[in-house]
Amino acid sequence: MSYEDLQCVEFVEMVTEYLEGSMSVNERLAMERHLAFCAPCVDYIEQMRATIAVTGALSEQDVPDEVIEPIMAAFRAATGRRS
Ligand SMILES: [Zn+2]
Repeated sequence: MSYEDLQCVEFVEMVTEYLEGSMSVNERLAMERHLAFCAPCVDYIEQMRATIAVTGALSEQDVPDEVIEPIMAAFRAATGRRS
């Protein structure tokens, strides 16, 4: 895969590793490049950080649907894709 055009869905899949710091330098750079232009993913990672701070856990399952759903809707609006 090309790190030049990281998609939001890939970002979300890798966010746990990003927050754990358990990814390669290239992957981390791709994540940070994505964050530079993608407001929905900035919101997402902020929510993940907040969740970790509250729960001490690091799991996507810990983020409630009411947090995920507006972000996914923003992803769909931003990308113009339907799911
Ligand atoms: Zn994104």
